[in-house]
Amino acid sequence: MKRMIFLFIFLSSHALAYTFNNNFGASFKDNDVKVMIAGNTYCDELGAGLTQGELEDLIGPAIDKFWNRVPTSALRLSFGGYTEDITSINTRKLCAPTDEACISGAPGATIAPVTEIVIACNEREDNFGSGNVLAVTIPNNFAGKDIVGSVILINNMATSVFKNLSRADQIGVIAHEIGHAIGLGHTDDKAAMMYYRTVDLRRALGEDDMRGVSYLYPMKLDGFGLLGGCATIDENKKLPPSGGSFFTMILSLFLLVMIWEIRRLLKRSQARPTF
Ligand SMILES: [Zn+2]
Repeated sequence: MKRMIFLFIFLSSHALAYTFNNNFGASFKDNDVKVMIAGNTYCDELGAGLTQGELEDLIGPAIDKFWNRVPTSALRLSFGGYTEDITSINTRKLCAPTDEACISGAPGATIAPVTEIVIACNEREDNFGSGNVLAVTIPNNFAGKDIVGSVILINNMATSVFKNLSRADQIGVIAHEIGHAIGLGHTDDKAAMMYYRTVDLRRALGEDDMRGVSYLYPMKLDGFGLLGGCATIDENKKLPPSGGSFFTMILSLFLLVMIWEIRRLLKRSQARPTF
């Protein structure tokens, strides 16, 4: 009797909405990343409108209520306290290391490369353009295709509207900026934390954010048993999104097993004498 194999695969295809903050999908190499406050930063009452204690209190919730809550992401952020003093962190220009125009526009006055994620207040107008831009974030230190450090600047200009936000919205802003710091760009998905417009809706991560962070910081599959000695998903980290997600990995493995099984059955049926 012939054995029949029914293979049903349901593929849900959806467009990838999340983007990266650089053109090579960089992320921190280590999954444990610290979020720190620049040692000598100050946030003015008439600028960002934050005391040092208030700034500190925004970081914990921005980490724990959002980015640390994704079951398919290995990223674990933690508050790391204060950095050593960073020269003129409050007034210098923030540039990506590859942005020649930005660097040459502020000769000798760019913020030096940092390690981990560093938050500061900054009052330099050309970092923000206007008081309506709440904050800016740029990874300003890379090693090859890995992010080594990112700077988050909260708008501390006198016209900054950051001070007018509710505490919940300020936490949402910091969480959104941390999203940039870990490698994510903007999305056109309105339900996402990384949507670029609405601030007041950033109360939780959207599905799109979770897929983005899980792509950049995939859970290792070690210990699943299923894979035995196979490679971990980490080694697929830099593949394009279509090849790199957790679900695609599982699906690919499933297909491989099925193909292997079909080939095995075909071989067996060919080898069997026919009557
Ligand atoms: Zn943004």
